[in-house]
Amino acid sequence: MAWFKREKKGIITSTEEKKEAPDGLWNKCPNCKKALHQSELQENKYVCHYCSYHLRVGSKEYFEVLFDDSQFTELFADMISGDPLNFVDSKPYSDRIQDSMRKTGLKDAIRAAHGKVEGQELMIACMDFNFIGGSMGSVVGEKIARSIDYSLEHKVPFLMISKSGGARMMEAAFSLMQMAKTSAKLALLSQAKVPYISLLTDPTTGGVTASYAMLGDINIAEPGALIGFAGPRVIKETIKKDLPKGFQTAEFVLEHGFLDFIVDRRAMKAKIAAFLRMVQN
Ligand SMILES: [Zn+2]
Repeated sequence: MAWFKREKKGIITSTEEKKEAPDGLWNKCPNCKKALHQSELQENKYVCHYCSYHLRVGSKEYFEVLFDDSQFTELFADMISGDPLNFVDSKPYSDRIQDSMRKTGLKDAIRAAHGKVEGQELMIACMDFNFIGGSMGSVVGEKIARSIDYSLEHKVPFLMISKSGGARMMEAAFSLMQMAKTSAKLALLSQAKVPYISLLTDPTTGGVTASYAMLGDINIAEPGALIGFAGPRVIKETIKKDLPKGFQTAEFVLEHGFLDFIVDRRAMKAKIAAFLRMVQN
């Protein structure tokens, strides 16, 4: 009856050896709460296949979704933020940057890359919300400015993918200056008749909405994205009135004439490629 008697005492499998699904293999849809497998999500462009909710993703995923064979050349990859004001809130700004770099593997809240979309050249700058709330500091502004310079020099259309909580308060006025700088650069791009597409994703707010995100030759958005300047709570407290239903969603903003169209992420690449063909010919 050896099989019946426990010969060794207790559970001897160490925690590390226990068979468990590896971390990050399953995700939960924040909208319908259904479980989504990572490989399915990837195939479905990070859109929930139950309810079509567009999950918040970063530059890594957008580059993978848009560039042909996920091939691209990253530009200005080594720029990191200084701490011009020696800013300290709950911790020093320089520590916050170091922590964010460690946690996200990113250098700042944006990455810029050059590649092809259905065979056509495109320069993309894409924001990352995981890095200090996708806040726009001097590195974000400078990378956008340099991306535009690259587009100008090589006559390559520019796509900006915005995802931001607004200006980076730890850089105060230096952040605000990025609005003027990027807008001035976009004016040069416009003069040179190089196309600029602005894609607003969830969320696009604050100084980003008030500058480059709304300056596209076409401004497009993903379904359900929060788009606004100040948040709904601030507005409500200021005007002392209830806000209309669906206020600050991409659909509401489209209806009020601030967007050209809303594109499902699964159709995004084809739509952008069609636009590029249209303006190049
Ligand atoms: Zn869902």
